[in-house]
Amino acid sequence: MSPRAPEGDPTVSPARPDEGLNDVLARGERSYSFEFFPPKTEAGERTLWDAVRRVEAVGPTFVSVTYGAGGSSRDRTIAAVERIAAETTLRPVAHLTAVGHSVAELRNMIGQYADAGVRDVLVLRGDPPGDPASAWVPHPQGFRHAHELVSLVKETGDFSVGVAAFPERHPRSPDWESDVRHFVDKCRAGADYAITQMFFDVEHYLRLRDRVAGAGCDTPVIPEIMPATDVRQIRRFAELSNATFPEDLAHRLEAARDRPAAAYRIGVEHATAMAGRLLDEGAPGLHYITLNRSTAALDIHRAVLGSQSLRVG
Ligand code: FAD
Repeated sequence: MSPRAPEGDPTVSPARPDEGLNDVLARGERSYSFEFFPPKTEAGERTLWDAVRRVEAVGPTFVSVTYGAGGSSRDRTIAAVERIAAETTLRPVAHLTAVGHSVAELRNMIGQYADAGVRDVLVLRGDPPGDPASAWVPHPQGFRHAHELVSLVKETGDFSVGVAAFPERHPRSPDWESDVRHFVDKCRAGADYAITQMFFDVEHYLRLRDRVAGAGCDTPVIPEIMPATDVRQIRRFAELSNATFPEDLAHRLEAARDRPAAAYRIGVEHATAMAGRLLDEGAPGLHYITLNRSTAALDIHRAVLGSQSLRVG
C-alpha cells in the first residue's frame, strides 16, 4: 500500500501503511467505506476496476471485498484483495467466512493476507451454501460461530477485525437478548468494529446501538447503506437480508418503474436522507454497498459529506 494521500477530497484520511482500521477509529475519525464483490468474468473484472478507481479518487477509509456464499469465491476474493493492496492507495478489508472451512484452511488464508500486507479482515460465520436458511452444519474441523474466528485472526497476527451486526436481529436469533449477548461476545473476542446488515429505517439502527451500549459494549457499529434504485432487485436483497423494506418507498419506486432516472433519484435521495440522519445521530461512519457500480454510492457520499464533520459526535 502506498502512503500517498488521495487527491480531490480533503474530508477523509488516507490509508496509511503503518496502521489498521482500529487505529483510525480509535482516533475518533469517521470511516467511509465501499463494498465490492469479486467478479466471475473478464467483463465483470473491468466493471469492478472502473468502480474501484472512481472510489479511490474520493479517498475512502477502506474498501471491502465480499467472500462468496459458502466460500465459493475464495481465490477470487483473495486475488481482488491482493490486487487492491498492491496497485491502489486503498486500504482493503477482506471478508472471511468460517462456513465450509477447517481451522487449518482458515489459518492458511489469514497467512496469505498477512504475507500480502493486508491487515484488515471482516470476520463472518457465513450462511450454508445453497439455501441460506437451511440447517447450519459446521465443518468437522471448523468453527460454529464467528467469535471463534475473531479469536483465531487476532491470535494469528496484527489484524484489525470487523464483525457483522443486525439492526433487525440475526434471522437465527430467537430473541434480542441472545442476539446482543452473542454480538458482545464477538467484540470481547477482539472485534474492533462492526458493520451492519442493510436496513431502510434509521430507527432500527438506533435501537440496536442502544441495546449494544446497554450491554456495556462500546465497539463502533458502522451502518451499511444500500442505495434502493431498482425495486425488484432491492426487494430480493431485502428478503435475503431479513431487512424490512418500507412500503411507501416501494410504492414510489414501483410508480417510477419505467423511468430509471426517476427511480435512481428516489433511491439516492432516500439513502442520502438516511445517511445524513445516521451521522447526525453520531454513527461512526458509513459503509456503502456498490454492487461494483459506484455511481449511486458516490452520489450519496458526496451529497452527505457536504454538511458533515469528520469526527464522531
Ligand atoms: P455469528 O456471530 O456466529 O451469529 C450467527 C447466529 O448464531 C446469531 O443468531 C447469533 O446470535 C448466534 N450465536 C453466536 N454465537 C453463539 C453462541 N456462542 N451460542 C449460540 N448462538 C450463538 N456472508 C458471506 O457469505 N460472505 C460475505 O462476504 C458476507 N459479508 C457480510 C457483510 C456484512 C456487513 C454482513 C452484516 C453480513 C455479511 N454476510 C456475508 C452474511 C453473514 O455471513 C450471515 O449473515 C451470517 O448468517 C451471520 O454471520 P455472523 O458472523 O453474524 O455469525
